[in-house]
Amino acid sequence: MSTAELVKQHLIDPGICIRCNTCEETCPVKAITHDSRNYVVKAEVCNDCRACVPPCPTGAIDNWFPIAPGKPYTLEEQYAWDELPAAAPVATAVGEPDDVARLTSAATAGQGGPVAAPWSAEKPAVNLYNERGPITATVSGNFRLTGEGASADIRHIVLDFGGVHFPLLEGQNIGIVPPGTDAQGRPHHVRLYSVASPRDGERPGYHNCALTVKRVTEDHEKKPVKGVCSNYLCDLKKGDKVQVIGPFGANFLMPNHPGSSLMMICTGTGSAPMRAMTERRRRRIDLKEGGSLMLFFGARAPDELPYFGPLMKLPKEFIDINFAFSRVPGQPKQYVQDRIRERHDDVWRRLNDADCYIYLCGLKGMEKGVDEAFRDVCRRHGGDWDKLLPQLREKSRYHVETY
Ligand code: NAP
Repeated sequence: MSTAELVKQHLIDPGICIRCNTCEETCPVKAITHDSRNYVVKAEVCNDCRACVPPCPTGAIDNWFPIAPGKPYTLEEQYAWDELPAAAPVATAVGEPDDVARLTSAATAGQGGPVAAPWSAEKPAVNLYNERGPITATVSGNFRLTGEGASADIRHIVLDFGGVHFPLLEGQNIGIVPPGTDAQGRPHHVRLYSVASPRDGERPGYHNCALTVKRVTEDHEKKPVKGVCSNYLCDLKKGDKVQVIGPFGANFLMPNHPGSSLMMICTGTGSAPMRAMTERRRRRIDLKEGGSLMLFFGARAPDELPYFGPLMKLPKEFIDINFAFSRVPGQPKQYVQDRIRERHDDVWRRLNDADCYIYLCGLKGMEKGVDEAFRDVCRRHGGDWDKLLPQLREKSRYHVETY
């Protein structure tokens, strides 16, 4: 394509590039060059083949920025940068497969689309592997999280990348490509799962990650159905190979700065990213970085609740946990939004704490209920949710991912 037609430009993020020369060596059309400061991309030569993306160890290579049509950044401009221009998006969805783009935009649609990552979030790597070139992971564990008597079979599945660098941050997703074809003979669609492990892995330092997967046995109308990908994953044995793509997601990320707090609200397997964020903070507990964790977690009953046992063992001063059980015989039905209302003083304080970041993940239906609960909390304390919500979004403090 001539640069006159360009509306998106391939750029390298100088802030995270480690100048290893891998991209320059890989590029089949010699579009990448460097000086003593930066690695840069020649807009008129790059043919968008993306051969450079998977080998890049940091994801610095993976940026396709919208530009004024026909006005790419020059090499001189790129050589001068210490970081990418501020107006550019944090990361692009341009390289994502259609399935992934469709799923991620549906997941964040309810509250007006994705919100930029917190200012102190680690810069994520995205789109390192795609369906044409997935990474093969090996199952190193598959454990049932729910009680034997529970209606749901929810599993903690650990995938090992065999020493290959596959950088993941808490809140990011990976895509699983189920083997085989559908009834029409077409390859199955990719399914997205949030990582449930922190950035250093389920087993720290071993290039691995964990997923939280519920075996799907019925559809939304309660008709029996066998979920293709969830059943494939739940049936995997140790040593089995899995095709993985990603990582995906550059918004639903946790803050890194000392003193930052998290308010996490989830239902069912929407707990996956909350487990990752909690575990990240737990592993750093001795650093005494300040900030607090508050969790609202909804499930049908205690034995249907993934990670119930480990959560119960966490010190109360580390995390303020509020369970909401909806189907415990003899007890009134409770949803997370009921617990948010009950804890209105503490919730109101956190809504007004500039260093508290709020995360919602799980069933689509909870979004409205939680929105109404926050509106009630605000009203009770003389605030106005309709004014506060846009401010929270503007400050990257309100993140939603629901399916
Ligand atoms: P579930 O067991 O069906 O429900 C969990 C709890 O949420 C139950 O107590 C349920 O109550 C309650 N609930 C139902 N409607 C609600 C509403 N309107 N407001 C608040 N609470 C409500 O949940 P699940 O099957 O695990 O589903 C979790 C969702 O998370 C799925 O949509 C999944 O796609 C999504 N998710 C999964 C991942 C992952 O990595 N696996 C990541 C992100 C999101 P009832 O007794 O009324 O049913």
